Amino acid sequence: MKKLISLLGLLLCAACSTPEYISPGITAQEKALSQSMISLEEYPQKQETSYVHNKARATAIFEKLKIAGAPVCRFTSDQKHNSCSFMTLQFKNDETVNAYAHGSNNIVLYSGLMSYASSDDELALVIGHEMGHHLADHINEDQKHAAVGSVVGAILLGALGALSGDANLAGEMANLGATAGGQAGILSYSKEQEKEADYIGSYLVAQAGYDVEKGSRFFAKMYKLNPRTGSKDLNKSALFDTHPTDDERHATLLKISKEVESKKASSQALLPFKGARKQ
Ligand SMILES: [Zn+2]
Repeated sequence: MKKLISLLGLLLCAACSTPEYISPGITAQEKALSQSMISLEEYPQKQETSYVHNKARATAIFEKLKIAGAPVCRFTSDQKHNSCSFMTLQFKNDETVNAYAHGSNNIVLYSGLMSYASSDDELALVIGHEMGHHLADHINEDQKHAAVGSVVGAILLGALGALSGDANLAGEMANLGATAGGQAGILSYSKEQEKEADYIGSYLVAQAGYDVEKGSRFFAKMYKLNPRTGSKDLNKSALFDTHPTDDERHATLLKISKEVESKKASSQALLPFKGARKQ
């Protein structure tokens, strides 16, 4: 059994992925500053703008991000993509506050989220974040991870079923294990990927002339709507299930914004740092 467990451990680690683009670390003071900024934020209100208007607004922002962000797309995809034109944007007229990247090129934006993004900087940062997931190839990593999780889950529960001596039960338990293991595989590493998507997305936003600091206000508002420790005001908001909305995220975005500004001031290329670096 010990051998089986260490084999499973190896299998899981084969799917572990280290982010290539690591956002700057934050100090306790920076986190405290972010917390005070969030506390000054008024309780977010939905904008009374129409779905059609928001769709047109998001489409224009997306096009701008794709055109101006081409150097970021080339750099972060290791030249796999020569431009950002491989990505497409779809809309869902649904009041859920959500956005996600899926497939090999799609981004889905819900009207519920658009009505909380009051400035173009905010909407640009949300779209840039989802583009970041595609550029860092997170969907493929996710699928690999989920596949390994399924195998591990099937082996574990299948083995338990086999111990019972009932062949039908063993088969059922293997199926159940594959499903549970697949989900665990997806969920187990998402925080690092979220940070990487924020980091890459911020540079797309900066290249397109939007303001990362102003955009980060969206995440302060989301935190206000759904603080980790507080009650869920928007139970139906899937964004909170898949995306961290904590003060640390807001503080990190503010720090990224400073990094962007210092690169601009010293005429450096507006591209994220790659690999390990001094914090
Ligand atoms: Zn994300």
